[in-house]
Amino acid sequence: MKTLILFLAILTMAGCTTGPKNLIAKNGYAIDTTHESQSQNERVRHLVLHYTVLDDHHSLQALTSGTASAHYLAFTTPPTHHELPVALQLVPEGRRAWHAGVSQWASRNNLNDTSIGIEIVNAGFIEGPTGRLWFPYTEAQLTLVKRLSADLIKRYGIEPQNVVAHSDIAPLRKSDPGPLFPWQAFSEHGIGAWPDAVTVQKHLAQRPEFQRVEAGTLQKALAAYGYKIAQTGVLDEETRQVFRAFQMHFRPAGISGIPDAQTEAIALALVEKYRP
Ligand SMILES: [Zn+2]
Repeated sequence: MKTLILFLAILTMAGCTTGPKNLIAKNGYAIDTTHESQSQNERVRHLVLHYTVLDDHHSLQALTSGTASAHYLAFTTPPTHHELPVALQLVPEGRRAWHAGVSQWASRNNLNDTSIGIEIVNAGFIEGPTGRLWFPYTEAQLTLVKRLSADLIKRYGIEPQNVVAHSDIAPLRKSDPGPLFPWQAFSEHGIGAWPDAVTVQKHLAQRPEFQRVEAGTLQKALAAYGYKIAQTGVLDEETRQVFRAFQMHFRPAGISGIPDAQTEAIALALVEKYRP
């Protein structure tokens, strides 16, 4: 006890008001971490999901030695560790991975700055005689991506409308993770946004689901929800591509990019729920 009192007295005399635990020597100076500000938040705001269009081996090769990267990679059949599915972490979460490219969502662009990216091994699509044929995901990799996403969302407090497809934030360039990604099932596990059925019915207002509608209302709703889309009022090629990206995420039963009553109702319901 005597020794401790003597030690404290020496500290006080030396003008040292912090314990040695909070002082960290750096390169020619030291920092004191005693006083932490309340005003701060996570840099990560978005979760972006992708598919690789390559097999396991080439996905890993491309994402570790090429010019693109992602924080996590989910193999077709993820390996296991004590019965837990394993995701490969290719970039630490605190650093930027290069997965989003030129991108925009709501008021933000260059989503690499504010996102975590997950790449899922999947071949994408092939052009068939009646349109694109999409490759399914495996149950094992979806289980892994679900658990990983849920954990990231919880740790960073990512809002549902900020869990996005690469095609949502770069609709003119990208189609991943495609219409076979189970967004609705994921939303039922608290991962990502989904409209309330009652609100969709309200906006559908008795119209047939595939009844064609004007482009203007949907353009406006998608801009309000977060998509980068010009308000032209007509179905030009760029508009159609953004509509298609939206349908791949929220209405996979029809992804032609033609605006219809159901697509419009879903968009309005999402705005009402997440961007009031
Ligand atoms: Zn992508």
